[in-house]
Amino acid sequence: MSLAGDSRSLPHGSMVGQSSPSESPWYTRMKRCGQINYNERDPLTMDADAWGDYWASLKVDAVLLNGGGIVAFYPTLVPYHHRSEFLGKRDLFGEMVAAMKRRRIRAVARMDCNLAYEDALKAHPEWFERNQDGAPRPHGESPWLFATCMFSTYFSEQMPAIYREINKNYPVDGFFTNGWPSTGSLRVCYCESCRRLYEKLGGIPPAETDASNLLYHKYYEAYMDRVKEIWRLWDGIAHEKSPQSVYVGNLGGGLDTVKDLKQLSQVAAWFNADHQGRSGETPIWDCAQQGRVAYSVMQGRTATNVSGAYSNSQPIWRHVSKAPAELTLWLAQTTASGMVPWFHWLGGSPEDTRWRNVGRSFFDWLAANEMHFRNRRTLADLAVLYPQRTVAFYSRPESRRPPHRGGPIDYLQGMYYALLEGRFLFDFVHEGNLDAATLRKYRALLIPNAAYLADAHCEAIRRYVKEGGSVLATFETSRYTEWGELRGDFQLADIFGAHVAGEVIGPRGNSYARMEKPHPLLEGFQGTSLLPGAENRVPVKADAVPLVLSIVPAYPAFPPEMVYPQTPRTNEPAAIFREVGKSRVAYFAGDVDRTCWRSGNVDLSRLLQNAIRWVRGADPVVSVTGAGIIEAFAWETEPGYALHLLNYTNPNMTHGSIRETYPLGPQKVRFRLSAGHRIKTVRALRAGKALKFQQEDETVSFQVPSISDYEVMAIL
Ligand SMILES: [Zn+2]
Repeated sequence: MSLAGDSRSLPHGSMVGQSSPSESPWYTRMKRCGQINYNERDPLTMDADAWGDYWASLKVDAVLLNGGGIVAFYPTLVPYHHRSEFLGKRDLFGEMVAAMKRRRIRAVARMDCNLAYEDALKAHPEWFERNQDGAPRPHGESPWLFATCMFSTYFSEQMPAIYREINKNYPVDGFFTNGWPSTGSLRVCYCESCRRLYEKLGGIPPAETDASNLLYHKYYEAYMDRVKEIWRLWDGIAHEKSPQSVYVGNLGGGLDTVKDLKQLSQVAAWFNADHQGRSGETPIWDCAQQGRVAYSVMQGRTATNVSGAYSNSQPIWRHVSKAPAELTLWLAQTTASGMVPWFHWLGGSPEDTRWRNVGRSFFDWLAANEMHFRNRRTLADLAVLYPQRTVAFYSRPESRRPPHRGGPIDYLQGMYYALLEGRFLFDFVHEGNLDAATLRKYRALLIPNAAYLADAHCEAIRRYVKEGGSVLATFETSRYTEWGELRGDFQLADIFGAHVAGEVIGPRGNSYARMEKPHPLLEGFQGTSLLPGAENRVPVKADAVPLVLSIVPAYPAFPPEMVYPQTPRTNEPAAIFREVGKSRVAYFAGDVDRTCWRSGNVDLSRLLQNAIRWVRGADPVVSVTGAGIIEAFAWETEPGYALHLLNYTNPNMTHGSIRETYPLGPQKVRFRLSAGHRIKTVRALRAGKALKFQQEDETVSFQVPSISDYEVMAIL
């Protein structure tokens, strides 16, 4: 198959260069990345040079190429490493690597360690995952393949043998594994290796992945240890080739991650998020959220995100393109949030080629403006706690906890939505990075129901408040230990000024919060004395603080004759707002964030926005004023500063695909710089226009006339 018409002048080697071992590894400077994910049959038809031309036309630094694992795309000599049935005399992998190298593009071998054929199962039964009855686990759609177990020698011997064979025969720059380790739930396996592991852990395999199960605690730690052990082993094998070579695993699950990302970041030189697109009611900003999660652990080290150019909705179509506007906004979120875009197509001989120009057009623009995507640090003045343990263990669908508390990420989603509506600049801070040096950069820490919080994390938050930091927290924050053991009171009760006074009440609709007295948090609610109440709440007793919002307990919503409050007034606080020294603390006893997300209620979003504004204080580092729903990122870059604005204002914002862009009108920007910085130019990089600006002391002001899907202002 020819990709005629895709060739452009070559090479772009001046950008890539081949650095020496003493320099920082090549992938730390990578800005664009591609992947062609070919299949068993592709050796019959695939044109390596045409693909080389296509990727060169995108000016990519690296391309992911299928090496082996399930299927070898080269004449492997490793036993039970299945050669493509259609390989014939070809060495497709070798041709592809050579095609990239001729164009001075790095080649990373894309591997799959998760499945193998039946001949391997017969010869090495110990390599495979087992059900409780000992049966191997065939793949759902391709049942001639069987799941391998990561605790077996398939991971510690067979995969290394394959990596070493590739290292020996091809000039590869690294290895990547599809689908492993992932960030999803842990799979319990009953193979011999796993049974031996359970014996060591002191029991039978955990039947349920529930954090209240003591054996599961141990299994979770053993599982994370094995992931890190394998990651280090494979990274070591990559390094046998060159100190510049690297192993990268597959991570990414957006907000919902069960495996501990902080631990994974300690072995990962490069974090790849396999977060290729969205389906169902997933909001468009799901990719930016992934970028924030990655940043919370990598803190500026290399993070990539895969953008599927195919239609990865539900149902899925692997071989037709996704809507160009949707794909472009996904790529835009990747770069805005500080990740490197990794553009991905499946199948070596596509019959749909519409996706190619989408990637090329975006990557062309990226390459032309590359320096503005070299970030030094974020300028966000708000931190949002990424509560790993709560996300991983609290009220997961598979857990035995009462289901009334909803999905573990609904709290974070609600806070996020309020942050978008209020146009705040924020970063995620992983709970594993809650230390004074990290927190000091932010004016306030927002904690969306971090129910499972270790003593040490609580202590870091307490110290932050003592040093003048402000906090907003909701619902059951700090009520449990990191493993979900119930504490007698909130561990942060002294910070909240609130104590647990009973079990969680809910879920109940038709409850309210009564506004008892004026407060900055209640601005914009003229004309009502009632606000919507949270669906769940912890009954609390407050230390001596004035009652601002009181609980009106739920009463019937049906039939209308019965819709009146049985207890119209109580002294139970719905929230507590305190000022202690320089710190401000807002604590909501209800799950206002989750309720806001699930109901879409505008008052709850306004209440959260007011609370965020109050804890942050006046004069934000960046303000963007205008109509529309946008997400903003601000970075200090190598040449100066960059302000990224993503336009989500679209009827397909929460149900894909975005098929058209609805441009926004003027946006007024105020941007505070480091002291002593004189600005010479402000340029809108997508529009390709210089903008008029004023500078007064440290503040630069300008107007962005319009934003189509995405705009980046370079401020130099
Ligand atoms: Zn096993």
